[in-house]
Amino acid sequence: MTVERTLAAIKPDALEKGIIGELCKRIEDANLKIVAMRMQHLDRARAEGFYAVHKGKAFFDSLVKFMTSGPCVVMVLEGENAIAKWRETMGSTNPEEAAEGTIRCDFGTNIERNAVHGSDAPDTAKFEIAYFFEPNEIVKYEWV
Ligand code: ADP
Ligand code: MG
Repeated sequence: MTVERTLAAIKPDALEKGIIGELCKRIEDANLKIVAMRMQHLDRARAEGFYAVHKGKAFFDSLVKFMTSGPCVVMVLEGENAIAKWRETMGSTNPEEAAEGTIRCDFGTNIERNAVHGSDAPDTAKFEIAYFFEPNEIVKYEWV
């Protein structure tokens, strides 16, 4: 087991639903520690840069529009196997295919408005964390 960090985001659809607290609880219940957190309303350039890997796909323009439609909560999560664990806690991209009890199953509206984001691999986690946070914005504390 290795301690990892991953970038998580609570997307604008989840803020509209008033479930920030519920989602933070699920994060901590999954033994993932929130070590950085900020509310941020992405502008177009910021959202396009974040999702640059999807540029050219049919859903890209709509995705950017959605992600800039309201604020997000961006976070760094830390824990054992944090990247895979957060992906599991979120569930599949399409809420209709997401396993029962996952965030996207419980709170996703459709394949675009799916409540949360999580990095998918160590290299994307590194890029995405640095995209939103300076090293000195990531804190250290112990659970006792
Ligand atoms: P994930 O967020 O599960 O890593 P992707 O990286 O494939 O999924 O896609 C990024 C985001 O783009 C998704 O979370 C979702 O908001 C949106 N998206 C993905 N596929 C589609 C699609 N086919 N139609 C509309 N939006 C999509
Ligand atoms: Mg992805």
